[in-house]
Amino acid sequence: MDRLKQEEFIEEVKAGNEITSVIGEYVSLRKRGSSFLGLCPFHQEKTPSFNVNPEKQFFYCFGCGTGGDVINFIMRMENLTFPEALNWLAERAGISLPVKETPAEQRAQKEREWLFRLHKLAALYYRKILTETPAGNKARAYLEERGITPAAAEEFLLGYAPDSWTGLVDLFQKKNLSLQAAEKSGLILRGEKGYYDRFRDRLLFPISNPQGRVAAFGGRLLGEGVPKYLNSPETPLFSKGRYLYGLFQAKEAIRREGRAVVVEGYMDLLQAHQAGFKNVVAALGTALTRDQARALRRYTEYAVIAFDADLAGQAAAMRGLDILKENGLQVQVVTLPPGEDPDSLLRKEGPGAFRQLLEASKDLFTFKLDYFLEKAKPGTPEKKAQVVKAILPLLAEEENMVVREEYIRRVAVRLEVSEEAVYTEWRKYARAQRKKKQPLDIKRKSRNTNDITHPAGLPPAAPGKTERETPSHPEREVLRLCLQEKKNLERIKEALSGIDWTVEEYRLFFIRLLEVYTAESWPPPASLFPAELRSLYTELQAENELGLLPPDLDGCCRRLRQLQLSREIRQIQQEVAAAAEDSPELHEKLALLNKLHRQMREEFPSFSGLR
Ligand SMILES: [Zn+2]
Repeated sequence: MDRLKQEEFIEEVKAGNEITSVIGEYVSLRKRGSSFLGLCPFHQEKTPSFNVNPEKQFFYCFGCGTGGDVINFIMRMENLTFPEALNWLAERAGISLPVKETPAEQRAQKEREWLFRLHKLAALYYRKILTETPAGNKARAYLEERGITPAAAEEFLLGYAPDSWTGLVDLFQKKNLSLQAAEKSGLILRGEKGYYDRFRDRLLFPISNPQGRVAAFGGRLLGEGVPKYLNSPETPLFSKGRYLYGLFQAKEAIRREGRAVVVEGYMDLLQAHQAGFKNVVAALGTALTRDQARALRRYTEYAVIAFDADLAGQAAAMRGLDILKENGLQVQVVTLPPGEDPDSLLRKEGPGAFRQLLEASKDLFTFKLDYFLEKAKPGTPEKKAQVVKAILPLLAEEENMVVREEYIRRVAVRLEVSEEAVYTEWRKYARAQRKKKQPLDIKRKSRNTNDITHPAGLPPAAPGKTERETPSHPEREVLRLCLQEKKNLERIKEALSGIDWTVEEYRLFFIRLLEVYTAESWPPPASLFPAELRSLYTELQAENELGLLPPDLDGCCRRLRQLQLSREIRQIQQEVAAAAEDSPELHEKLALLNKLHRQMREEFPSFSGLR
C-alpha cells in the first residue's frame, strides 16, 4: 500500500470509530463542558483526570500523560501494534481493509465481513426465538432451572435454536442471502434434500471476538441425544483454540482487577458473571492454547484457573497451564471440592465460597507438587525419589533464587526428607542442564554484540531506563519544544551535543525529527513518523495543544545538562570506590571528580547535592 492510500485508510478508520464511543466501551465517561471525563485506565486514580475531546478526537490523561487518538488508545488498551490496532478498529467499524497485495486477500476480507453480518443476523434470530416465542419456553425453563438470570442471558445474548430443520435457512432465504455462500458460516449445512440448520433444539451461546462481534456459536442440546455440546466448526471467522468465551464482556474487569479467572464451560462463566465475578472467561475445554494465553496476556499478567478438580490434573490441562506460564502469565490454580465445578459451587454455596476458593488458590508449583505427591503416593524411598525427579524441571523454570530455595524447602517438608538431599539433587540436575545449554548461549551472546547500531551517530540511551516518563520529563519537554517550532530544534540540537538521552523512545523521536528537518510544514505531519513513534507523536501534539505547562527552552536544556553532569559524577564516584587504594588510576579519577564538581558548582550555583 502506498503512503497516500495508507493515510486515507487511517482517516477512514478514525472517522468510523468516534473516539468517545470507543473509549466509552472501556471507561465510564461523563460530560464536562465540551469534553468527557473519566477515570484513567492506564494508571490508578480516584479522581478523574482522563479527558476525551470529541471535537479534536483525542484523549489525554493529566495524571500520567498518556494521550493520543483513537488508534493510540486501542494500541495501549488492547496491547497492539499500530497496524494491528488499525485492523482492529477497521473490523470494529466494519471497514474493509484497503487494497492488499492480492485480490484473494481482498475477497477473503470481504467474505469475513459478510460472515460476521450473517452471525449477527443469526444471533438476533435465536435471541428472539428464546425471548419472544412459545418455541422458546423450553429453553427459558431450562435457564431458570439452571439459575441463569434474564439479565445475564441478555448480556451474553443467549438464544435458542428451535427444533426445526430450516428455521435459519428460511430466514436467510427470506433475506435473499445466498445459501451456498452462507454454508461457509457453518450455521447451515447442505444435505441430500437441500440446506438445513446446524443447530436444532439447542440453547445457544454466541461466541464473540474481542471486539464483541459474534463469530461462532456453542450450543447445548436441550432434548435427548448426542452430542450434548456442539460448537460451530472451523470457519474463516472461528477456530476453537483461538477464542476465550466471554473475553469481550470480561476484558475491562480483567484489566481493572489485574487478573483473569479461567473456568471451563459456559454455565460456569454465566454463574460467575451474575454472581459479580466479572473478570471470568471460559476456555471451552481444559487444554488452553497459546493463542488463548496471548489473548489473556493482553489484559493481565495473572490468571487463576478454576477447573473441575478431576480435570485440572489431566495431562492436557497441565500442559495448558504451562502454556499460560510460557506466555508470560503468572498462574494460580483453584482447588475445587471433588465433584464440583464453579457452576454447581456457586449455586450451592454462593459467591462467598467461590471468593474464598479464589483467595486460597495455589501457585502453579504447589499445585503440581501436590499433584505429583498425590499421584505417586510416596512413602517408600523410591517413590520419594520419583517425586523429586518430576519436580526438578519445575525448579529449573523458576529463575528467582529466593523463590527456588523456598520451593526446595517445601518439597523437603512435604516428602519428609532433608533440604540438603533435595538441594543436592537439584544441583546435579542443574549442572547437567547447563552442559546441554551452554553452546547455544554463547552463540546468542556474540550475535547480540554485533547487532548494536547507533543510528545517526548518537550514543544509545543509557540502559535500564527506557520506560515512558511523565509530561514533565525534561527530555519530553524538549521534544515538545521541537515540535512547536522548527528553530527550537536547531537550538536544542546544539545545546544537547554531548548529552545522552535516558529514554530510548525519546532519543529515537529526536533522531526522526532531525531526519525530517526539511519537511515543508512544521510540525511535520504524523505520516512522516514510523508506526512505533506515532503514539508518542500524538501525545506530544496533544500536550502542546492543551498548552500544558509551556516549557522554556533554556530551562530545559539546563536541566538536561545538569542531569548529565549528575550522572557523570555518580559514575566517577562508583569508579573511585572500586579503584585500588593509592593507585595512579585512583588519583586520576579523583582529579576528574573534582573537576566535575567544580563544573557543577560554576554552572549550577543553586544546585546542592546529587539526585
Ligand atoms: Zn492516566
